[in-house]
Amino acid sequence: MYVYGNIEDERKVLMCQEYCVYISFTYRLVKFTFRYHKVQKKKRKMCVSYEKDNKRQKKGIVQDYYEILGVSRDASAADIKKAYRKLARTLHPDVAGADKAEEFKAVNEAYDVLGDEEKRRMYDMGGRSAFQSGGSPFGGGFEDVADIFSTFFGGGSSRGPASRARKGQDVLVSLELTLNEVVTGCEKEIPLSVMVQCDACHGTCTKEGSSPVTCTNCHGTGSMQRVTNSILGQLVSTVPCSQCSGVGTVITDPCVECSGKGRVRAARNVMLKVPAGVEHNMRIRLEGQGDCGVEGGANGDLFAEVHVLRDPVFQRSGDDLTCELTIPMTAAALGAKLTVDTFDGEQTIDISAGTASGDVITLEGLGVGHLNAQGRGDLRVSIHVETPQKLDAKQRELIEELARLRGEELPVAQLARHRETLFEKLRGKFNR
Ligand SMILES: [Zn+2]
Ligand SMILES: [Zn+2]
Repeated sequence: MYVYGNIEDERKVLMCQEYCVYISFTYRLVKFTFRYHKVQKKKRKMCVSYEKDNKRQKKGIVQDYYEILGVSRDASAADIKKAYRKLARTLHPDVAGADKAEEFKAVNEAYDVLGDEEKRRMYDMGGRSAFQSGGSPFGGGFEDVADIFSTFFGGGSSRGPASRARKGQDVLVSLELTLNEVVTGCEKEIPLSVMVQCDACHGTCTKEGSSPVTCTNCHGTGSMQRVTNSILGQLVSTVPCSQCSGVGTVITDPCVECSGKGRVRAARNVMLKVPAGVEHNMRIRLEGQGDCGVEGGANGDLFAEVHVLRDPVFQRSGDDLTCELTIPMTAAALGAKLTVDTFDGEQTIDISAGTASGDVITLEGLGVGHLNAQGRGDLRVSIHVETPQKLDAKQRELIEELARLRGEELPVAQLARHRETLFEKLRGKFNR
């Protein structure tokens, strides 16, 4: 005898009384199957197996038998047979190879049910679950159903009423930081609008002097027995009480301040310590600083999502900072000591004589602080040599004089060659 029905959403019961009882349900994409052998009344064995069922679910392989055969639900027996033969011919492992073995199996399974008038009628009434275990479908009664439920699910009534406590929600806020704040870390005050405990009722949800009363519907147990009529008989299952939502008590005199919610929305400021080296889009978590829980439930967490603002001068590259320094041509040729403004105050940069555009001067330890580690990256200053654009007569004369002295009045064009990389040098050696 088959019984099938839903126990709490995803759990499906399927039993074959003559040989054994199957209960299978899917929890977090893992399919659990309990087998409850009933060889003789007193000799019972139980074995449990589970398998990951996510692939089948994700790919949607668990299809309707009619879909598998590509026929409509009102197709005639002849149409079903025709569709099956056509599919079986193309999907047969001898023709399509082992790749299509699964599909071939599914087509056979579908035809096994839809090709048989009686099985098809049962399938139409109850869906596929009635045919998944195989075995003989007829046998004894239902007296063991409640017994099985209590064996596997602890029995609804003995579980007792549910707690009213609920965890508060997590709160996500956006946190704008300047690059300067990221370099050394900082402390920020964040204004929040979160749920906090109601002062009037101290989170109890009831008016002062009153307390929740026992639910008259379930008499405080929080659950009710529901009898479902399936095509083969009655199935008794335990469901949460609809009047008290399974809690067992009802608040008849709710707190006015919070409308019986136990919490109210309020503005609150939180100090957040931002560590050096945080990156754009990272989230900083403050445990327990989100919405407050309901009736003793834990508080939610606060997540601050970091958004680093663009700096007009400095750019971040890993834990290093980069910037560009423009120097006059004469300083590049003669050398100079220049002061620049960094996140660490004024720093002196030593420009050696003959510095060219593109040269990089590294200031060690002036970069971004390493996240969760000691030390900082470097500041890399890339030099840009500025060529004078407007020359007066005297300046022009001097530069012409310089060109003459360096023998550069008629400069010879010299196309730059690529510099050989280490790899190219090695390759050149080996190919010789
Ligand atoms: Zn209140
Ligand atoms: Zn109730």
